[in-house]
Amino acid sequence: MFETEDTFRHQGMRKGLVSLLREKKIASEEVLDAIGKIPRHMFFDSVFHHNFAYEDLAFPIGAGQTISQPSTVAFQSTLLEIQKGNKILEIGTGSGYQTAVLLELGAKVHSIERQRELFATTKNVLQRLGYRANLYFGDGFEGKDSFAPFDKIIVTCGAPFIPPKLLDQLANDGKMVIPVGEGKTQIMKLISKDSNGDIYEESFGNFSFVPMLNDKQY
Ligand code: SAH
Repeated sequence: MFETEDTFRHQGMRKGLVSLLREKKIASEEVLDAIGKIPRHMFFDSVFHHNFAYEDLAFPIGAGQTISQPSTVAFQSTLLEIQKGNKILEIGTGSGYQTAVLLELGAKVHSIERQRELFATTKNVLQRLGYRANLYFGDGFEGKDSFAPFDKIIVTCGAPFIPPKLLDQLANDGKMVIPVGEGKTQIMKLISKDSNGDIYEESFGNFSFVPMLNDKQY
């Protein structure tokens, strides 16, 4: 049962979350504004979880997957330096919360999810909330060649390596943020392409994501 009401209580908790993210040094006002607008509790399928929706926690969303921690969503979104109208590819739609943040930032979003059930549920959630993204059921390792190149690419699952097709589909002057690593933790990498297509890599500490999988879809 997904909640449809945004009460004063939810709004109050949401303000608290934005203050907390500010304390945690999230510097982008645009990203903080986006998080301040989005009813995160509506991305949880049980009202019992609403008290957690505005804590800075990752949370199970079914099928062994998680909705990323708000500070992680904010951090990845900030690293991408999103401009209005940017065309963005997201790998791992999950709950759709990160998708909503990208849309609030004025981006055009293409998002891929490999779990069919989650793909179907999240499509409904985003539609009901009026968020318009291009959602695909498929394998993120393949990217979405038909809509490439992308100004920005965001990977929201732990990748064993940087998928070559994603690198190909990144525009010149584009940026990709991707947690890389095969163990329990990954290193957050920011990959930048310059105007000649040369590639630069920076690292931003350890994070913990569910793995990016390329075995059979279910
Ligand atoms: N952005 C999401 C994070 C969800 S967790 C959110 O805000 O809720 C990561 C998601 O990546 C999971 O839903 C998982 O099913 C998905 N995933 C894992 N491997 C994938 C792949 N190869 N292609 C696309 N999605 C993948």
